[in-house]
Amino acid sequence: MTFAADPLPPQPPTVADRLAEVRLGVADAAARAVRSADDITTIVVTKFHPASLVRELHALGVRDFGESRHQEASVKAADLADLDPTWHFVGQLQSKKARAVREYARVLHSVDRESLVDALASEKDLVDVFIQLNLTDDPARGGVAPDALESFADRVLGTSGVRLRGLMAVAPLGAEPRAAFADVRRASERLRTLAPDAVALSMGMSADYADAILEGATHLRIGTAITGNRPNPG
Ligand SMILES: *Cc1c(COP(=O)(O)O)cnc(C)c1O
Repeated sequence: MTFAADPLPPQPPTVADRLAEVRLGVADAAARAVRSADDITTIVVTKFHPASLVRELHALGVRDFGESRHQEASVKAADLADLDPTWHFVGQLQSKKARAVREYARVLHSVDRESLVDALASEKDLVDVFIQLNLTDDPARGGVAPDALESFADRVLGTSGVRLRGLMAVAPLGAEPRAAFADVRRASERLRTLAPDAVALSMGMSADYADAILEGATHLRIGTAITGNRPNPG
């Protein structure tokens, strides 16, 4: 049994080695889950790291990157426009910044308020969204309370320009991640009665991605296990 708060094992020294180790870890967990690793997208979360690290990861074959702060993400997206990577916005998002984030992010993982959904509406183009599910009793953690999932999903499904991909969640600190991810999987079954195509599950971070894969994760959001420790936020 692993807990999210357990220290991570020592990390290999280079980004290339760390990426290779995570790729092996993903393949190993997928094999244990009798799933194809090709059905699992690893998003490398590069928040607080410089654009140069994104370039290095891109050269190693990474195409999906995650960011959690609009200011920082928009600067990086502009710097790296020549690479045209897929940007995933994974942090809490204010409605007033939603349209700006939509300019560079192809996927938003943290949609959790009706005002935010309304701000994302568009008649021009589509943005992919995940509904974030709150697995704690603390509303400040972000995410929709599980018992509000159906009504919130109805709002998303009724909004033009927004394509619902599935659910996103963060395992609560101190909880057993596998059990938390099993709750998300069960919520996903409820969601699919309303939205049969919303099959994706964005869950699993550096410390718990193997558990997430065992519970059906399709999108991992992995930072430090690949990037190394984050510099202090600027
Ligand atoms: C930072 C972040 C991650 C990555 O966390 P690590 O523990 O460094 O892998 C994943 N998801 C979200 C929402 C984050 O903010």
